[in-house]
Amino acid sequence: MSGRVEDKVALITGAARGMGAATARLFVAEGARVLLTDVVDDEGLALAAELGDRAAYTHLDVTDESQWEAALSVAEERFGAVTVLVNNAGILRAIPLTAMSLEEYQSVVDVNQTGVFLGMKTVVPGMAVAGAGSIVNVSSIDGLQGSPALLAYVAAKFAVRGMTRVAALELAGMNIRVNTVCPGATRTRMMDCPDMAGIDIEALSNRMAPLGRMGEAHEVADAILYLASDAAGYITGTDLTVDGGTTAGVGVEMFSQITA
Ligand code: NAD
Repeated sequence: MSGRVEDKVALITGAARGMGAATARLFVAEGARVLLTDVVDDEGLALAAELGDRAAYTHLDVTDESQWEAALSVAEERFGAVTVLVNNAGILRAIPLTAMSLEEYQSVVDVNQTGVFLGMKTVVPGMAVAGAGSIVNVSSIDGLQGSPALLAYVAAKFAVRGMTRVAALELAGMNIRVNTVCPGATRTRMMDCPDMAGIDIEALSNRMAPLGRMGEAHEVADAILYLASDAAGYITGTDLTVDGGTTAGVGVEMFSQITA
């Protein structure tokens, strides 16, 4: 049986850890050749080595346009034309609006928003020549609704959903699909963000999600795989939310006793 992304070449950002690492593992298992990229080189190199010949690693800070060009060249030389781009790299800061410095705001926007723009801009011309492509941009449930203390992160994650729609409209004629995945609270190192020290994220997530638990990185990877694959061939310009029902509606605590 062939894999679900057999013969596709994928470039994944933030692939050394968390959801990016889970996505790289799944893509290789499903037949893709994958260039893992990140800024934590030791972990990225170790994971690529573990995944074997169908995987490679190169350094890519997503805020740096010249590093994008260099990473694309590595992917093309090693595996051929890139037909899947997963813009997954992200950082989280939790700082109240009036306490946030301009530098803190911009650092979050640079990685989570500008990085997605640079990734699409760099990779799309090669996809156009290849005649097909799928781009999956990782937004968040914080791109669907507000969260106190997450002003910069929310701004960037909303922007990712907007950019996704514009790109989907512009690129449909080139047979390039563009979608977002919007995870809810998911068990990765991002949840250890120092700004949130002392908060029991797991307990809160368990209460917020109707399914009663945090998400796991491999569950987000499954959604990314689906959108990257030809099984999603008629899906573009949309969001796939992976949040255990967290954003499905209000009133879970108020009415759950009636429906229990
Ligand atoms: P993570 O911290 O485990 O992984 C993020 C990866 O991005 C790390 O490997 C990190 O080194 C890399 N990275 C950071 N800055 C970078 C840069 N400038 N250039 C390249 N790589 C960089 O976190 P995660 O939870 O796996 O996050 C993956 C994506 O999912 C992010 O976009 C995040 O915003 C989003 N997300 C996470 C959650 C969650 O609850 N964990 C929820 C919603 C959305």
